[in-house]
Amino acid sequence: MSQTLKPLLPGSTLGVLGGGQLGRMWAHVAQRMGYNTAVLDPDAHSPAGLVSHHHIHTDYLDLAGLKQLATVCQAVTTEFENVPADALAQLAATLPVSPAASAVAVAQDRAREKAHFVKCGVPVAPHAVIDTAEQLAAVNDHLLPGILKTSRMGYDGKGQLRVTTRDELNAGWAKLGSVPCVLEKMLPLASECSVIVARGRDGEMVNLPVQRNLHRDGILAVTEVFAGNVPEALANQAITAAKAVAQELNYVGVLCVEFFVLADGSLVVNEIAPRPHNSGHYSQDACDVSQFELQVRTMADLPLTQPRLHSPAVMLNLLGDLWFANANAEQVEPAWQQVLALPGTHLHLYGKREARVGRKMGHLNVTAATPEAASVVALQAAAILGIAPF
Ligand code: ATP
Ligand code: MG
Repeated sequence: MSQTLKPLLPGSTLGVLGGGQLGRMWAHVAQRMGYNTAVLDPDAHSPAGLVSHHHIHTDYLDLAGLKQLATVCQAVTTEFENVPADALAQLAATLPVSPAASAVAVAQDRAREKAHFVKCGVPVAPHAVIDTAEQLAAVNDHLLPGILKTSRMGYDGKGQLRVTTRDELNAGWAKLGSVPCVLEKMLPLASECSVIVARGRDGEMVNLPVQRNLHRDGILAVTEVFAGNVPEALANQAITAAKAVAQELNYVGVLCVEFFVLADGSLVVNEIAPRPHNSGHYSQDACDVSQFELQVRTMADLPLTQPRLHSPAVMLNLLGDLWFANANAEQVEPAWQQVLALPGTHLHLYGKREARVGRKMGHLNVTAATPEAASVVALQAAAILGIAPF
């Protein structure tokens, strides 16, 4: 920790752009550490706004809203990856903003993101940038079958189409509105993993352990973290790559780097999120320092210490589907009391007023003394809730 940074001490007000669940969990931690919080989000019922000292309900680019945020806060972060980079740049004129608009702008654009990975020497999926009809026509056949992804604004598998033939590719680009896209070759995935790093303004970096992730329908379903969840050499490779990606962006804040593990055991970087990530939620109950505390520490220029995983953990995402898991398709509250009767279960719900299929409503962290025990309890919880076994 450099001597020159003057930390923002508890009692200060920290702000976040975006009022979703990530902002809510960040606000809980900031408040636990003695900070006041401010949330800017257009939705009057946003999960983070509901629990924050200040809630500014304006659009992200509303000048009056941004000014108000800058007036009440001493530092600002973001929890929403599609927050306009301009809003961050605007705020940075008067107060510390982390991550910087320049780093968020890279994460917001798949084409720039891929170029950044290449620059860092980290392997990426074979791909082509498709901004124009000419680029579409020039796509090499070896990228098919592939996944066509909009360059901007995608999340949870939205803005993506699987395409097998050139006809499907052409139709797919039209279906996505002929907006700038990236076509990625469909890779044979053996598994997926991610790494969360936190980097301070002084360049100090720490990381959470490698997370093994299971996606269903393009949405994260399960994260498992324990020693040996991925082979050690692969884990080290992922951590080194994630740190290089953060370093090269001169990143300040919490960054998640997602990877594919291919059938031949090799590692390919998928994408980055310039904020805490769903795959890091287990750290709330299984690590001595969570990803949200790392976010608070980086934005307040507090020291970073290497987090320690103290319990093997399994995280189950709780999607809105679970509210409709009964036979007559009526909305029914899941059986939390049965789940909480299992040892080591930690329920996190985001306070969203309406359950919808595919909507992230909460997550369940399961911690135990051994990976086997965590897995047994997580499978029992999944069975109670109507989540398919994994
Ligand atoms: P999120 O923001 O929730 O992480 P996203 O909408 O940005 O998701 P991606 O991470 O690009 O989407 O893709 C979602 C999932 O689709 C991946 O986690 C992976 O399971 C699968 N997938 C994406 N690209 C490929 C690929 N090139 N080959 C094989 N599978 C892929
Ligand atoms: Mg992803």
